[in-house]
Amino acid sequence: MTAPLSPLALLDIDSLIGAEDRDIRDTVRAFVEDRLRPEIAGWYDTGQVPVRDLALEFGRLGLLGMHLDGYGCAGTSATAYGLACMELEAGDSGLRSIVSVQGSLAMYAVHRHGSPAHRDEWLPRMASGEAIGCFGLTEPDFGSDPGGMRTRARRDGSDWVLSGSKMWITNGTVADLAVVWARTDEGIRGFVVPTDTAGFSSTEIKQKLSLRASVTAELALDDVRLPADAMLPEARGLSGPLSCLTEARFGIVFGSLGAARDCLEATIAYAGQRQIFDRQLAAYQLTQAKLADMTVELGKGMLLALHLGRLKDEDRLGAPAISIGKLNNTREALRIARECRTILGAAGITLDHSPMRHANNLESVVTYEGTSEVHQLVIGQALTAESAFRS
Ligand SMILES: Cc1cc2nc3c(=O)[nH]c(=O)nc-3n(C[C@H](O)[C@H](O)[C@H](O)COP(=O)(O)OP(=O)(O)OC[C@H]3O[C@@H](n4cnc5c(N)ncnc54)[C@H](O)[C@@H]3O)c2cc1C
Repeated sequence: MTAPLSPLALLDIDSLIGAEDRDIRDTVRAFVEDRLRPEIAGWYDTGQVPVRDLALEFGRLGLLGMHLDGYGCAGTSATAYGLACMELEAGDSGLRSIVSVQGSLAMYAVHRHGSPAHRDEWLPRMASGEAIGCFGLTEPDFGSDPGGMRTRARRDGSDWVLSGSKMWITNGTVADLAVVWARTDEGIRGFVVPTDTAGFSSTEIKQKLSLRASVTAELALDDVRLPADAMLPEARGLSGPLSCLTEARFGIVFGSLGAARDCLEATIAYAGQRQIFDRQLAAYQLTQAKLADMTVELGKGMLLALHLGRLKDEDRLGAPAISIGKLNNTREALRIARECRTILGAAGITLDHSPMRHANNLESVVTYEGTSEVHQLVIGQALTAESAFRS
């Protein structure tokens, strides 16, 4: 009898990852195991997570904006960033969300679309975790259709005055700056809003059943007056925020597989020691069929993620390809998490085991950064040259 292999070892996935990227992954994995895993069930249970402390720790590890260049960012490969997201989400999707929103949404928006002054002012502090950013695109009535947004920025002399509200905003109550997207006379534009500006307020959304170890908030903009240079000069129209979402979706392609891998590993370990009728649960064919099918999906998702990582590192990754990754990997990760919970039986419903926590989190992960349906529509449009977003 040979020793059992871990799910991704069956495909020798490590042989596809360069030594430097593997080192980064292993460092993040050790941090997650030693520092985060002992705490995560408690954070999830209470719905309280020390985002500020964690941001500083993530900053020291070089995880914030890690695939961006300059301004204190690590400038790693996209694949390394994806692998870091995978390890963080093996801990919890909420922890990966902190890093995604900071690096791929808020920092990327400033890096790609901001002025030199915006970059100098915010990026070094955001890379170190001293300043936290949030990204305000979604509104109460406009999620999948952000182009309908009602938040408005009007000119008053040379100033801008913003009014409206944003909903479901990760890190909204802990942020130092909010990147806010608003309608102007010249179309949708982005604004850098320091959260201590008069008229800006945020309220945490409570009673969540998903992403409990993550802060989610509603933002209110009540005649928030900003200087002319608060506008991101390089972002014009919806392509501005969508470019940031594309970055974040890439991290999720890898991240969701981290949650799935953790579910599978926890479940294999449990099934190996749980005695049912006259033998261990892992020895039953029905259990092994489930484990095998989940391992096949995890492996396929991993090959897809690494392929997208290579394309991104070569600057050849298109939005429909990211949609394929986001749609497949979040959907399969959620299926894996739910299937793992069935193998755990009643033990699977508490925080002693990770699969149901991951499954609950993944309900948000399949929803944010474009729902599965929205990604089906993106892929469908690419295939047919017909947009089916509107009836
Ligand atoms: C935990 C969490 C954190 C978030 N963090 C942020 C954040 O930091 N910043 C931010 O801006 N947003 C954030 N969001 C918001 C997220 O991006 C939106 O929830 C998402 O875009 C979906 O919008 P919605 O919830 O309004 O759903 P809706 O747009 O109301 O969609 C409802 C349903 O309709 C379906 N649907 C939509 N369009 C079509 C169509 N054309 N055809 C068929 N079906 C369709 C959807 O797929 C979905 O099933 C977060 C959400 C969550 C849950």
